[in-house]
Amino acid sequence: MNLIQAIEKFKNDPKFKHNIIKWQTFPASPGEYREFPESLDSRLVDILKQKAIRKLYSHQVESFELAQSGSDFVVVTPTASGKSMCYNLPVINTLLQDDPEARALYLFPTKALSADQVDELYGDVEALGADIKTYTFDGDTPANARSAIRKAGHIVVTNPDMLHAGVLPHHTLWIKLFEKLRYIVIDELHHYRGVFGSHLANVLRRLHRLCEFYGSDPQYICCSATIGNPGELAQKVTGREMKVIDKSGAPTGEKHFVLYNPPVVNTQLGIRASVIKEAAKLATQFVTNGIQTITFARSRVRVEVLTRYIKDTMKRAKMSANLIRGYRGGYLPNERRAIERGLRNGTIKGVISTNALELGIDIGGLDVSIMAGYPGAVASTWQQAGRAGRQNDVSLAILVASSAPLDQFLMNHPEYFFGKSPESGIVDPDNLILLVSHLKCAAFELPVKADEKFGAAPVAQIMDHLATERLVHRSDDNYHYTSETYPATDVSLRSAAPENFVIMDESDNGRIIGEIDQFTAPELIHPEAIYLHQTAQYQIRELDWDGKRAYALPVEVEYFTDSESKVSIKVLHKDGEDEKLATRGFGDVSVTRVVVNYKKIRFNTHENVGWGRVNLPEQTMHTTSFWVGFPDKLVESLNLTKDQLGGGLRGCAHLLRQIVPLWIMSDPSDIRSVSMVKSPYQEQPTIYIYDSYPGGVGFSRKIYLMFDEIIKAASSYLANCPCKSGCPSCVGPMLEVGEKGKESAAVILKAMV
Ligand SMILES: [Zn+2]
Repeated sequence: MNLIQAIEKFKNDPKFKHNIIKWQTFPASPGEYREFPESLDSRLVDILKQKAIRKLYSHQVESFELAQSGSDFVVVTPTASGKSMCYNLPVINTLLQDDPEARALYLFPTKALSADQVDELYGDVEALGADIKTYTFDGDTPANARSAIRKAGHIVVTNPDMLHAGVLPHHTLWIKLFEKLRYIVIDELHHYRGVFGSHLANVLRRLHRLCEFYGSDPQYICCSATIGNPGELAQKVTGREMKVIDKSGAPTGEKHFVLYNPPVVNTQLGIRASVIKEAAKLATQFVTNGIQTITFARSRVRVEVLTRYIKDTMKRAKMSANLIRGYRGGYLPNERRAIERGLRNGTIKGVISTNALELGIDIGGLDVSIMAGYPGAVASTWQQAGRAGRQNDVSLAILVASSAPLDQFLMNHPEYFFGKSPESGIVDPDNLILLVSHLKCAAFELPVKADEKFGAAPVAQIMDHLATERLVHRSDDNYHYTSETYPATDVSLRSAAPENFVIMDESDNGRIIGEIDQFTAPELIHPEAIYLHQTAQYQIRELDWDGKRAYALPVEVEYFTDSESKVSIKVLHKDGEDEKLATRGFGDVSVTRVVVNYKKIRFNTHENVGWGRVNLPEQTMHTTSFWVGFPDKLVESLNLTKDQLGGGLRGCAHLLRQIVPLWIMSDPSDIRSVSMVKSPYQEQPTIYIYDSYPGGVGFSRKIYLMFDEIIKAASSYLANCPCKSGCPSCVGPMLEVGEKGKESAAVILKAMV
């Protein structure tokens, strides 16, 4: 059966067709080609011709021209559109024609993401036979190779963490790089949002001061998947004006994209057929017909379960189970390379993977991509979908929804998904906590001048504060680093709070299995909590609060734990407020939280199977919050009893927390929400949606600006949720919001606009 027949069969199959919510077809596009630019070195042209490339895509030529003109820019194009040429061509051209001693720094968010691009670069450089030294510099680089890289590497490929802790503090060993730096390439820009992006912006500020010191002024080339604000994000991260290239010239085949919602099996609880089983059925259907299929699952455990289901079905169909392979982090490199080869040459028909195969690794184009659950962001969904499709051939992508609110929201609002992506990458490089951390690092690297510019930082004020802590010493107008400690190692780019708790496995000589920031620790690693790490479950035996350690033992239980906290919020400073009917505002807040107890919740059914108390100290965090409050008059007009009001507010807070991440492109754990029947600050019923990072990274302002749109979507979503009186997919289970919880939440939502 060929793919077109298989697609027809799927469309009309009574097993599946009733669950198809939306079938969107994107027509093939012939692509837009341009001749090689005249200033492109003839040696490079020869290499391209050897690879059977006779012309370039329009966005590749535009990139080349912008690079030549000295502009900073960001290229936004889909998967498999040849974006690495957008930076490789100008960089190599400069090395061949202008300055054989020039340097380029390539940044990828993780090592895995750089693999494919770097291989291509190595290949081109080797074919050229020119003296261009390209090196990867990361945690795995052997010590004896490092000095050669520092001195001779023309193109250094690394990640932000390594730049921050392994390159900048040792700049005296990297003089050549800083003196001759011409290009900074930032690929996968959309990964740099929230805390990570805010950190990177500060790392780049430090990089700029070193470049200035050594006399170079590098130019930026950034690449990103489709997001709502590529130019703005690139500008905030790099601190430079950015030009945007967002029209891809790459040809595409006809693409079918299907939203698939498993049927409801329990209306009362709003439970749908399992996303895993449904995805397995779909995948088997294609694979047994000889169609090469990739299935994405959200966790490693799910990858294993899906692989087993599909292999079992293959065996029953008397087909070789070896046609199916799982793929995820934790497999040995040889094993992974073998699977990648099998996919390229077609000996493997089906692969089940975590987002490890989302991009960066060359597996060729497959026929069908199935996503078991929404990958968490529109940009990732397009990247996973993009794994299906060979150059100009037809392809099919199926997004299978889970019961999670975000998944169900998308099933209800296909127009959101297929319309222009409204997700924006948000960063706040001027978060005070991050500024302090990075100014410490900056002072270690070079003395900081009192009138120096470092973003919007009040430099002198921060440095005076560091002087009182005896970390720096002021002499004339310069602050010199005097402490013995080495600041970069204490600052992790992946979190905002410097002091993390570690989780240790007692059955394995105290091996560290994870880290958690101090504010989250009471929630996730209180004594008796079940801590999930990859496939394994651990129970926390003891939490040593002062020593910042949790001792855990592996267990196998049928439940997970969910903690309940008491939260109080005090508004410290209002940045904006707007009184329509309900009061909306955002600003600085102090959040005080104490975890009081925890529930044991059974997997799958989500039944409550027990509980316990937690005794841990109260936590206070300063961050930013959005809020919406309801004045007395408005509350009266709602006609709700006090219980209904409480349940409805809790329901709204639950629902909003679930769907807001879609607008602000954050991870669900980046924000939290809490409702109060009478907030001590506003003295009225209030819902707060606050940033989980100390200091905040800009989410609350964005929520404030987009709130009308968010409420509109939330109301229509709630009206469409098939449950009777609340479920985990909308306002939360009925037990938590009361019998009228769903209705009351709808009334309150309506009152917000
Ligand atoms: Zn519901």
